[in-house]
Amino acid sequence: MAPTSHTKPASTALINCKLLLIGNSSVGKSSLLLRFSDEQWLPEDESSATIGVDFRVHKMEVKGKKVKLSIWDTAGQERFRTITSSYYRGAQGIILVYDVSNRESFDALPRWYSELETYVSNSVVKILVGNKVDKEFSRQVSTAEGEAFAKRMSSLFIEASAKTAIGVNEAFQEVVEKILDTPELWEGVKGTRGGQNTGNGRGGVPGGVQVVGLSDQQGQAQEGSCAC
Ligand code: GDP
Repeated sequence: MAPTSHTKPASTALINCKLLLIGNSSVGKSSLLLRFSDEQWLPEDESSATIGVDFRVHKMEVKGKKVKLSIWDTAGQERFRTITSSYYRGAQGIILVYDVSNRESFDALPRWYSELETYVSNSVVKILVGNKVDKEFSRQVSTAEGEAFAKRMSSLFIEASAKTAIGVNEAFQEVVEKILDTPELWEGVKGTRGGQNTGNGRGGVPGGVQVVGLSDQQGQAQEGSCAC
């Protein structure tokens, strides 16, 4: 006999997720975002020192669940130390990026982590991404060092290259998987439903909003999803 339940199965609900990219200027945050969401790479000579992307929306299916990611880039704010608490609001996942060929960007990580301690809850999923592994010849931070630091900070870890695409999809995939595995994130978000952040991501960061890759209407948070 066919099932008679009228409730929508959890797996068909669209889950909205807010991810943030942070890290020093020029480590490749915008490039990682473009590579992941647009499968695009701007050759170094065609890009300025910092590309600067505000925001992308990307849909994916993880563990049988449909997820709508809104991924925010600092768009160069970090150069002026003006990242504000509103940038962090409602985030469930943080992608901390350093450049494996730039020791300074790795040494700056404790500062980024202390900022996170101030603005986001402990349960927020963090992944440390050592970007630019294609520059193996000028590497200044070893894989083991990155890995050990990430472990100390209770973060996931991956090395990647926005240029060659290695590790990029995996980085985003791993964060989302862990978010889906962390119920308190969903409980917390349900509490703020209808708050400052809208489903279309216009809450939070000042400046332009770019939305791509959406074929249907945005902001249709359904049952079981959050409104981050
Ligand atoms: P952001 O300031 O952290 O957003 O960094 P951008 O994405 O703007 O990149 C800064 C510079 O690094 C640009 O010239 C990029 O082309 C370059 N870049 C970014 N990712 C990579 C990478 O994986 N490999 C190499 N070789 N260069 C990269």
